[in-house]
This record gives sequence, C-alpha cells and structure tokens, in this order.
Amino acid sequence: MTRTPAGRFAPSPSADLHIGNLRTAVLAWLFARSTGRRFLIRVEDLDYRTDSDIAARQLDDLAALGLTWDGPAEYQTAHRERYDSVIERLIRDDMVYECYCSRRDIAQAPRAPHAPQGAYPGICRDLTGAERAERRRETGRPPALRLRTDVITYTVTDLLHGQHTGIVDDFVVRRGDGVPAYNLAVVVDDAAAGIDQVVRGDDLLSSSPRQAYLARLLGRPQPVYAHVPLVLNADGARLAKRDGAVTLAEIGVGRAFAQITASLGWPARDLGGLLAEFDPARLPRQPWIYVPD
Ligand code: GLU
Repeated sequence: MTRTPAGRFAPSPSADLHIGNLRTAVLAWLFARSTGRRFLIRVEDLDYRTDSDIAARQLDDLAALGLTWDGPAEYQTAHRERYDSVIERLIRDDMVYECYCSRRDIAQAPRAPHAPQGAYPGICRDLTGAERAERRRETGRPPALRLRTDVITYTVTDLLHGQHTGIVDDFVVRRGDGVPAYNLAVVVDDAAAGIDQVVRGDDLLSSSPRQAYLARLLGRPQPVYAHVPLVLNADGARLAKRDGAVTLAEIGVGRAFAQITASLGWPARDLGGLLAEFDPARLPRQPWIYVPD
C-alpha cells in the first residue's frame, strides 16, 4: 500500500514556541496542505525527557492557530529502538567509527589548508585498535560514533534556495552519552513516517546535505526541502524570550495570526483563506524583523 506523502513540523520541547516558530509551523502546514500531503507533528524530545509540559503547550498553541495534523503527534523518545537498529546496521557494515575527541581536541586540531570550516578534521578516522584502546583509557569516557563519509559535499533541492550544496563531514550519529544524534534521528524518523517534504527554519539549511546524504546511504528517499527565513529581533539576532511578547500566550491568537499573515504579505482572515492564496514563489526571502507592539 502506498501512503500519501507527508510534510511535517518537528519542534524541540526546549521552550514555548515563539512567533517565529509558529510562523514556520504555519508555513510547513501550508506547504503540505497546498500539495495534497499529510501533515505530521514530531516532538524532538531525545534531549528533553523531563519536561513534557512544554511539548503539550506547543501542541496546544499549534491547534489554537487552527493547524490540524494527521494522527497523534509522534514523540522521538517513544521509539529509541528505531534509531538503535539503524546504528547497529551502520556498525555492522563498518560505516561508522568511534570518536574520542572533545570539542577542544577538534578546535585545536591542525587542518588541511582547504578543509571546509566546521568540518570534523578526521582525527579518529583511522585509529588502529591499539590506538583506540589507548584513547579510551586516556579519556575515560565512551566514544561518540561518526559516519565514515566518502564525499565532501552533497547537493539538495530546496524550494526556496534552489540546488544547495553544503559540507558533509564525518558527522556524529550517536553521541558519547549514547543518545542518537539529531542528524540521524531526523533522517530515520522522516523516512519511517513517509515524509518527503521538509519545511523548517533556514538555520538548518547547512544540516540538510548531511541528512540527505545519510538518507541516500540508508536507501531512503530524498526529501525536498524548503528552508524558510528566520524571525529576528530589532538587533538582527534570533528572537528570544527577552525580546518581550513573543509567545502565543503573550501575544494572543488573533493578533499572532494577523502578524504572521502580514509578515507573509497575505493578509487573510483564517488559515483556509491563507491556503487558497498560498504561493511559495511569493514568499519573502528576507528574515522577518519582529518588534513586539
Ligand atoms: N527540532 C528542530 C528545531 O526545533 C527542527 C528539526 C527539523 O525540522 O529537522 O529546531
């Protein structure tokens, strides 16, 4: 049976959603619904096990804006075995290696002259068994697992950025504390749910080549991306709590909806109206500067 493909919104329950997150959620919904896709919500709680109240409030806020999704929201912590089995497979196929580096080791490592900024310099890639044992003894902590990649860059298709080529280094797929890394979890979850359209903030554009490359390696389909502009404060920094009224509880549903539609350039009375007008080609490409009124 073939499933209708899906889009999604995947909040991390670290804090209440702010107006920028809400706008991204509205856009993800519009992209999915305007293309006949299902719309799914995934709570990315691998790091936030202790506070499910925040996740519940996030879902309430999405519903208050009128967003609807198919099936119950999915929680990453509910299926750790899904990630573990993929990691087991990567280990079995010798596609990962143990990494003992601290952030400091990585920052201080000598780099090849043309090595891309932000790429892991490969310190642990070719350790012998004896060297690994020694590093384990020295550091006294369990290693992270890094993907042994065979490319330097990878190209994804983004509906707003066109063909985007970015770095693919030997990125972490399981952290030293045993938690599956974000890049791995996203790929595994998107594929498991039949998600083929990924709409999110453009702060994650640089992660998409790594994720799409891993999807290919695992034989999963390549999603199409739409990385939408972030919302910034008057100083050009990411919007944060200290910027004033930024959450739905503070702004109010009606006003937040009006602000979001005005920022998109499509004043609409409700989501249905917005959906009728939605045209990705007309989306603003600049960050939205949000000043609470
Ligand atoms: N959970 C991530 C965030 O809230 C989004 C991940 C994604 O959309 O792939 O920033």
